[in-house]
Amino acid sequence: MPKQAALVDKDKSLREMLSTNQWGTYFGISQKLLEQTWSKLTAPDGNSVVYISMEIAADRDVYHPIRDRLQRLNITGSTDPRLDGFVKKFLLGPEKIPNYGGGLGVLAGDTLKSMADCKIPAVAISLLYRKGYFTQMVDSKIGQISWSGNWEPGNTPSIYLLHQPGNPDLPLEIEVPFCDMENRESYAYARVWLKMEVNSRLDSFVPHLLLDYSCPSSPEAIRLAAQNLYDSSSEMVKITQRRMLGAGVLPALRALGITSHTMHLNEQHGVAVLLTQIADRLEEKFGPDYGTRASDPDILAAAAEVADRIVYTIHTPVKAGHDRFAKELHRMVGHAFCQRILHLLAQDSDNHADFNFTSLAMRVNRATNSVSRLHKEVTQQQFPQFADKITAITNGVHHLTWISPAKAEAYDSFKELHNWREDPSVFKNGLGLKDNNRFCAFFEKAWQQDNHILIDYVNRMLVKHRNQMHETWIDPPNLLSHLSEPGSALKPGVFTIGFARRFSTYKRADLIFEDIDELLRPILAHDWPVNFIFAGKAHPQDEPGKALIKMVIDCQGELLEKSRGLAKLVFIPNYDMAIAKIMVAGVHAWLNSPKRPLEASGTSGMKAAMNGVPNISIMDGWWAEGYHNGATGWKFGHEEIIDSQALQEDREGLLYKEDSTSFYKIFPEILEAFYVPEKHPDFLERAIMNLPLNCTIFNTHRMVAEYAQRYQLQLSTAQVNRLEKLRENYRSDPDYRG
Ligand SMILES: *Cc1c(COP(=O)(O)O)cnc(C)c1O
Repeated sequence: MPKQAALVDKDKSLREMLSTNQWGTYFGISQKLLEQTWSKLTAPDGNSVVYISMEIAADRDVYHPIRDRLQRLNITGSTDPRLDGFVKKFLLGPEKIPNYGGGLGVLAGDTLKSMADCKIPAVAISLLYRKGYFTQMVDSKIGQISWSGNWEPGNTPSIYLLHQPGNPDLPLEIEVPFCDMENRESYAYARVWLKMEVNSRLDSFVPHLLLDYSCPSSPEAIRLAAQNLYDSSSEMVKITQRRMLGAGVLPALRALGITSHTMHLNEQHGVAVLLTQIADRLEEKFGPDYGTRASDPDILAAAAEVADRIVYTIHTPVKAGHDRFAKELHRMVGHAFCQRILHLLAQDSDNHADFNFTSLAMRVNRATNSVSRLHKEVTQQQFPQFADKITAITNGVHHLTWISPAKAEAYDSFKELHNWREDPSVFKNGLGLKDNNRFCAFFEKAWQQDNHILIDYVNRMLVKHRNQMHETWIDPPNLLSHLSEPGSALKPGVFTIGFARRFSTYKRADLIFEDIDELLRPILAHDWPVNFIFAGKAHPQDEPGKALIKMVIDCQGELLEKSRGLAKLVFIPNYDMAIAKIMVAGVHAWLNSPKRPLEASGTSGMKAAMNGVPNISIMDGWWAEGYHNGATGWKFGHEEIIDSQALQEDREGLLYKEDSTSFYKIFPEILEAFYVPEKHPDFLERAIMNLPLNCTIFNTHRMVAEYAQRYQLQLSTAQVNRLEKLRENYRSDPDYRG
């Protein structure tokens, strides 16, 4: 094609990716799709769902369908300046959106992506944090150092500041009722950013609204509370953030005309949305002085009506995960009438001076979900009064985000897995792959590539840290940065174990280093080298969590010396989705060592499984379902029945001795399976069996198909059939009668 014609053609493709409505102009989706989606979300039947979450993670460097489309079409610019601006932004714009702290946010992002893929009518709401979550640096002597700077959402592809209808110069602002310190009614204001979670075919998207309270019209205290995700500098800031999320939902939906009947609370953080709805209903019934006219039974009746709209997912049995606030404090952010509702519905059974937001969420909903089978049992024990309505939907991960390019290519080459991108349930057809020599060879080659990418990343990082040492006062966190040749500190092909997640005491990141001599015994006995690659952030106010990071990096010297250089431990600072993606694909085994049953689900191990990487894990969370009697990896640690003792989080209750000893028992067998040629087929088989046994189940397509049942949406027959197919291989909760 002549050059000029090709350009015209490309401009045509680009124009088809442009759309506009009264609030803004967007890139990546067609006008038709925008209108279709919006008309569903604003239809009077309310046949859609609002997904409410404190954090939603969807960095562009791990999944970016619009950029991929541009690259496939070989488009790098346009003669139309507006289109050219979008193209440049989507090709070159910053990829990170630092609005997540860990697994909860990543799950939320993966959920929205699968909802977009499966065309489930949904809209999401979260907060926009101007500084986001912190950036982690690690110094060998100090440990974690946290730092946060502003990020610029306006520069980030797929995020748009909505403007007032028909007035591009004025941002849309919503008004959200609060209280001031004197208990007088006050208001906060939030601008609304729209982020689009677009599917890979660009023929479906889920809008995600980010409420930005840092606008000039908001009171200063609110603006300050809108800076950092999970700011816990004071209880007041914490409770303010919760209210910003929950009380902002209805004003945001109203401003955009969204009618969704069902609301999904991803964890209890946004539970204040219930208070507003209950008050709204009473106001409808009793008029403006409902506060004095409504009786307690009226309030309870209104709550029962509201409950019919709510689906709630509880994510953890760990105490720190549940919001309890002093009654006194709540007075400062909620109106007197909210207090009355809370008195009726949010009493904390342990402490009468507190309100308990988890209790409130538990009480007012139509379906309560735990995030794995085992977590269901634990939750039922923790909340016996609600045991009957607690069901399980085991978490998943978005397979298109987490499968590495090399593995994807291997999966693409085998007809057994045909159509795996669209329909991950086809992985069930991969039972024979372990005996298919051609597949085994493809798979191992892809794994080697992924391992190279990881090792290369680590080696370059070691060099970078060493160079930075001369420019900043940060002492490199890894001893290996001090080698004369840090650029080849780690060698590909060496058995590499990965561990990365938030550093929280119950996750016991340091468990396997409890007795270093025991850990090294099989390594020394056979001269088998091992790399341990660790990463993860601790919340800046979590001192014990930060101490764990220090403890882990402090093990490096002893490991190196006692193993005569065979055991190398590296810590990668500033864990994020991109690091997760290269780690879960590039290691040879993924380690998870939480105290059972405190890890409600865990999802990083599922990401490894998606890449055919076996897990070595405590029988907790999803692994109790994904272990398949050893077909997909290894288990260790105690498996006693769950009682109240099991929920202890103090150091003595964390069973370090017992569970580390159990790890040292299985470790030699794992090394043998990797290093001894006759045993290696066994290792490979466990790896590959993750495809039919775990990829089929632990994907968010299956998960949202199960949630769609709880949402009670009216869907077309074709869609009902598609969702049925996605979940037909697995029922998270055999007791659930939908
Ligand atoms: C997947 C992921 C997590 C969650 O890991 P868990 O094993 O579930 O704790 C946390 N952080 C990031 C960046 C992730 O990608």
